[in-house]
Amino acid sequence: MVAADTISRLFARIDASRAALVSLTQDLLRFPTINPPGADYRAICAYLGEWLEARGGAVRHIRALGEPDDSEAFPRWNVIGRFEGAEAGPCVHFNGHIDVVEVGLGWTVPPFEGVVKDGRVYGRGACDMKGGIAASLIAIDALLACGLLTRGALEFSGTADEESGGFGGAGYLARQGFFDRSRVDHVIIPEPLNPDRICLGHRGVWWAEVEITGAIGHGAMPFLGVNAIAGMGDLLALIEKDLMPRLGNRVTAMPCMPEGARRATLNFNSIHGGQPEPGDGRPAPVVADRCRLVLDRRYLVEEDFAAVKGEIVELLGRVKAARAGIDYSIREIMSFEPTMTAPDAPLVQSLEHWIEKLFDRPASLVASPGTYDQKHITRHGSVQACVAYGPGILDLAHQPDEWIGIDDMLASAKVMAAAALTLLHERTENA
Ligand SMILES: [Zn+2]
Repeated sequence: MVAADTISRLFARIDASRAALVSLTQDLLRFPTINPPGADYRAICAYLGEWLEARGGAVRHIRALGEPDDSEAFPRWNVIGRFEGAEAGPCVHFNGHIDVVEVGLGWTVPPFEGVVKDGRVYGRGACDMKGGIAASLIAIDALLACGLLTRGALEFSGTADEESGGFGGAGYLARQGFFDRSRVDHVIIPEPLNPDRICLGHRGVWWAEVEITGAIGHGAMPFLGVNAIAGMGDLLALIEKDLMPRLGNRVTAMPCMPEGARRATLNFNSIHGGQPEPGDGRPAPVVADRCRLVLDRRYLVEEDFAAVKGEIVELLGRVKAARAGIDYSIREIMSFEPTMTAPDAPLVQSLEHWIEKLFDRPASLVASPGTYDQKHITRHGSVQACVAYGPGILDLAHQPDEWIGIDDMLASAKVMAAAALTLLHERTENA
C-alpha cells in the first residue's frame, strides 16, 4: 500500500508542474512530425533524450534501419530512457508515438506553435498524442523528484510511425527485445481516451486485395469475353447477403466503443475494374478482364484468423463455380491480431483505483475499434499487461483545431504516477 502522505506529496508536485507541463507540450508540438513522410523524428527524439538525460535516465536512440519506410531523408528514429531504483523490482513503461497525421484544412490557429488559450494547448498532435506524452513525462518527473523510485524501474519510449502501422516504431523496438517480459512488466500508452477510461485492447484487422479475372473481348461482342466486373458483382452480393448477416451476429465480450464495434465488421475500401478510362472520357470498348476490391475486415478476439480468411475464399469459390472463365487471387496487404489485457491485471486494477479516487466515479473499461501500438507490444514483445490510458478526447484526434486540456493532462499525470508507484511496490510481480 502506498501511504496517503506520499500520494499528497506526489500530487502536490504534479500540481506545481503545471507551467512545466504546458511548456513541454508546446515544445513537443513545435516539431512538425507529420507522417507520412515521417518528418523531424530525429529532432524530437534528441529533445526527448535530453529531457530524460537531464533527470538521470539512461537514454538510447534507436533507428529502425532496414524498415521499409526508413530512409536517409526520413530516418525512423525512436528514443528510450530508463530510470532504475536501488532495489530490483517491476518496470513500468510509458510509450507514446511521436508522429502526427497531416494538418488538413479548417484550422483557425497555427498548428505547430503550441497556442495556449482557455486552459487548452492547441496544435496538430496536441491530443493524439503529444499531450499524453507530456503528461506521462510529468508523472515520471514527479516520481523522481519526490524520491519515490526506490524499487523497480521506470521507462519512457517515444516511437515513430504509429499512424502508419508502427513497424518502424513500437514494432521495431518489440522485435529488438525492448518489450520483453524480462525487462518490462507494465506498459501504459497515453493515447487520448478521456482521463477516466482505460482501453484494454483492440480488434484484429485484415486488409486484403481480392482480384477477379475474366477474359478480355470486344465491347461490341461481350459474349466472347468473360466480364470480371460481373464476377465481382456476384462476390459483393454474396458478401452483403450471406456474410454480413453472419458477421453481425458475432458479438465480442471485449468492451469495444462505440457499441457497433462489438461486432465483426467488413468494409469495402475501394474497387477498380476494367481498363483505365482515357483522359477525354471516352470508354475503352472492351470487356473488363479484371476487377480489384480492397477489403478491410475487423475481427474479434473470439474469431480465428484462418477462418476469417477462409470465409472470403469460400465465397470466391462460389463465384468461380457459378461463372465459367472467372478466376480469382488474394493479395494480403496487412494484418494485426486482436489483443486484450485482462481486466483483473494489476495494471488495470491500479489505474482503476486511482481514476476512481481522483474523479470520484468508477473508471470505464473500453476497447478500441481500430488498432494502435498495443499489438506490437503484446504480440511481438512478451509483455502481457499493456493498456492505453491518457488525457484528451478521442474525437478530437486527426481534426482541425486539435487541443488538449491542461487540467486533463494534470489529472491523468496523477493517475499515471500513482498507478506506477503502486505497481513498482507490487510484491507479487517479478518477485
Ligand atoms: Zn495516437
